[in-house]
Amino acid sequence: MAIVKKNSRAHKSRNQAVTLEDLRKIFEESGIRLTPQRLEIFKEISRAKDHPSAEILYERLKRRMPTISLDTIYRTLSTFENMGLIRKVHLLYEHARFEPDMVPHHHFICTSCKKIIDFEWPEFDAADLPENIKEFGRIMEQQVELRGLCRECLEKKGNK
Ligand SMILES: [Zn+2]
Ligand SMILES: [Zn+2]
Repeated sequence: MAIVKKNSRAHKSRNQAVTLEDLRKIFEESGIRLTPQRLEIFKEISRAKDHPSAEILYERLKRRMPTISLDTIYRTLSTFENMGLIRKVHLLYEHARFEPDMVPHHHFICTSCKKIIDFEWPEFDAADLPENIKEFGRIMEQQVELRGLCRECLEKKGNK
């Protein structure tokens, strides 16, 4: 289990998309310019359901924005993260992956194909943590990270 510090402030419910109007306002309030490049990167991450890494976003974006650099994507993602627009999924042993879903949830990670599947576990969220954890300091978020083999990978293994 990884306990991850929450640093988001623009919490949206799961089905509520950030509109362009919202986005303009958030940028304006943060004093950051909403450039066409930032907008494109935001759109790409917003529709991503697969928790892409910066590298994967780069592969997708450079098809329609040939001048974009991986460095720009890294910097922009970190700006978005600081603005509370996206979450960085802090996974042990893996490269950072990003997602637009700001509602805390849990992750299943396939150790073979690196697929990440979101899941909810309300009973866990509501559960009291063991007493000794409270001695560590203040817990800001409790998040479960399950690691294993996804169904597709299991089937592939079974067929060999
Ligand atoms: Zn897999
Ligand atoms: Zn997720």
